[in-house]
Amino acid sequence: MFCPGFKDVDAFVKRGLGGVVAATKASGLLPQAGDEFDFYRSFPGFQDFCAVQGERLLHCMSQLMQHHGCRSFMKDRSKLTGLEERFDLVIESNDVILEKVGIMLDEASGVTRSQPVMPAGYQPPRIVVSSWNRKGNDHSGETFHLLHAKNIQRPQLKFKEKVDNSNTPFVAKIFVKPNAIKPLPSCELTKLQKERPEDLDVPPALADFIHQLRTQEHMDDMFSHPYQYELEHLVMPEILRSRPDPQLYKPLAETSCTFIETLEDLVALNEKLAKTTEFAVDLEHHSYRSFLGITCLMQISTREEDFIIDTLELRSEMYILNESFTDPTIVKVFHGADSDIEWLQKDFGVYVVNMFDTHHAARSLNLGRNSLDHLLKLYCSVDSNKRYQLADWRIRPLPEEMLKYAQADTHYLLYVYDRVRADLFDAANGQSNLIQVVWSKSKDLCLKKYVKPIFTEESYMELHRKQKKSFNSQQLVAFRLLFSWRDKLAREEDESTGYVLPNHMMMKIAEELPKEPQGIIACCNPTPPLVRQQINELHQLIKQAREIPLLKVSEIYVLHNVTLLTLLQSESTLFGPHDTSHVSESDLMELSLQGRVILLFLLKEDEGVGNSGHLTVAQQKACSILESFENPFRMYLPSKDIHISKNAKYDPSTKIYEISNRWKLQSIEKQQKEAQAKQEAKKQAKKAKGIYRLEVCTPAGPVGPIKVSCVVGLIFSVACGSWKPAHCRQEWDEARLKRINLRIKE
Ligand code: AMP
Ligand code: MN
Ligand code: ZN
Repeated sequence: MFCPGFKDVDAFVKRGLGGVVAATKASGLLPQAGDEFDFYRSFPGFQDFCAVQGERLLHCMSQLMQHHGCRSFMKDRSKLTGLEERFDLVIESNDVILEKVGIMLDEASGVTRSQPVMPAGYQPPRIVVSSWNRKGNDHSGETFHLLHAKNIQRPQLKFKEKVDNSNTPFVAKIFVKPNAIKPLPSCELTKLQKERPEDLDVPPALADFIHQLRTQEHMDDMFSHPYQYELEHLVMPEILRSRPDPQLYKPLAETSCTFIETLEDLVALNEKLAKTTEFAVDLEHHSYRSFLGITCLMQISTREEDFIIDTLELRSEMYILNESFTDPTIVKVFHGADSDIEWLQKDFGVYVVNMFDTHHAARSLNLGRNSLDHLLKLYCSVDSNKRYQLADWRIRPLPEEMLKYAQADTHYLLYVYDRVRADLFDAANGQSNLIQVVWSKSKDLCLKKYVKPIFTEESYMELHRKQKKSFNSQQLVAFRLLFSWRDKLAREEDESTGYVLPNHMMMKIAEELPKEPQGIIACCNPTPPLVRQQINELHQLIKQAREIPLLKVSEIYVLHNVTLLTLLQSESTLFGPHDTSHVSESDLMELSLQGRVILLFLLKEDEGVGNSGHLTVAQQKACSILESFENPFRMYLPSKDIHISKNAKYDPSTKIYEISNRWKLQSIEKQQKEAQAKQEAKKQAKKAKGIYRLEVCTPAGPVGPIKVSCVVGLIFSVACGSWKPAHCRQEWDEARLKRINLRIKE
């Protein structure tokens, strides 16, 4: 069914069109302004009817506009007076909607806008020759071809399993484990999850702790590398133990190259590979029009044949190759496998056991340059050219030239593997110590786990720091809002963040804070399609940023290790940006716009944690509790490299001092008193053997007291306006939050 009540698109369109025609007819029958209208208006019944129906229509239109992310009557009601303005809004929304329709129709019909929209009248060249990553003068003849094809359908549309762009950790896509010594973790977890200790006479938050500890082991298994055990117990294969006699490659022109795009052929290939002792592998990947990237091609070469697998077509079937890829008796030769290992896991759930990376071999041999081109030149006298490295590998059917290029990437690799091994033995005077290093480095690569990009409230700071620009408070807020807008949209639309809004454009918008939508467009040349589409949304974000107080700040202010007692004592004055004694809703809002994350940690001992060598069982348990606190709140944690020295807070020459002073955060005396209080609390805590009782009072009644031993991290985040104990199943809204009391009893 296309959508509820309609069996297909045609049925939907027919009904929709009927509705539009009927509405148009009916509106034509309404009394015209000027003549009958004034007469009708003299009847109160008519007036009421018009008012009610008018409201209904406006509401309906507003909802439509909001659904499309446009400015609507609702949002701007207070400012809207005239009919004219409303009319403009309707036109604006129509444009946005039609633009969206256009883009979708294009995509559905296979025409992509993989290139940024160009100014009218300008036709982009089909091949963009660029030299951005040319290194040194010896490469002067080399060019990189960014081959774009006009007719690329989004491969994602055909994927059997939809891409998971959600902001959650990656879960391994492996359900069958060939060559296993240790079996896959069982799926008992779901059963365990149901067995929460509800029956225990403990508060819900604590019940969740206990449950978490019980399931932790299983979770560890779930998120560990499926072949970790096998890799750790792998011994160097016989073939690597002695100096080989290099076996020359077959001439490229005489080697059969099979393009594999059916399951049948893939199975046959797998059988063939299972009989070999080594084969070479390479992948081609596309990352511009997808959030996580897509592996488009896999090249495999045996001593006899070359194969190119269409991994867009066989994406869901690729896992069968695990049989040969994880077979410890078969060497898989890669060149520079860092990304390949991740892509195999991400897209196919394929793992590699027993790999040899010729890139690491080149490094161990001190060849100076370790690229594949260099090795091919050195050992095979082949002048390869990596000019299609950045081509759009989603193109189908693949042009002959690109197929040849892909084939050449693995064709010579087994011979290179022989040659570097021979050289590694020679360089080590016939010993195997050098080859062992390469072997071990390659194994480490295989142990790498794919990690999905996770958005946190701090992610924007990482990028901001890299850009090395000093922003004022408004610019920083704009940057933060743009960053999260971009991340959200990229995940939703399955596009790269670079496609949605390239970094340099995002910086420019944040820097200039354009007053008008047109100004935002002007910051982006050429304007990315999604920026054009969501220009009103972006305009609102910038407006929001412009409304906050202008401060010359470039750091986020983070308070470390402030005890909860401190929070209680100065509850009302701690965060007030103005000199008021109460924190009002708007103050909180303003703070949240500042992106201020205030972390409150209650620690028994600063030292004890992290030094796992000296931890008692209780401390280790405490650490795991602490971790259980940290994970769900990762987004609120400060990134590790922000460090604010304690003294900076008291030193009038520092920025921190300036900020805390300006925001009347705390007086120096108060801070000193609190430092003392903190020391006291620490001492007392030590005396009390680290048992705290924490009472959390919510409007629904007290939760707790919760007994917490040793170490507890509590996180109070102003930025999101909510405080929640980890795993608290109750959702608290902002209003409730403000009525929450925290009390500590020793
Ligand atoms: P290769 O192993 O050289 O065949 O490269 C495999 C894939 O890595 C290519 O299909 C590209 O997606 C990506 N890639 C390689 N080199 C670069 C580069 N310099 N910049 C961005 N992506 C690259
Ligand atoms: Mn590669
Ligand atoms: Zn390649």
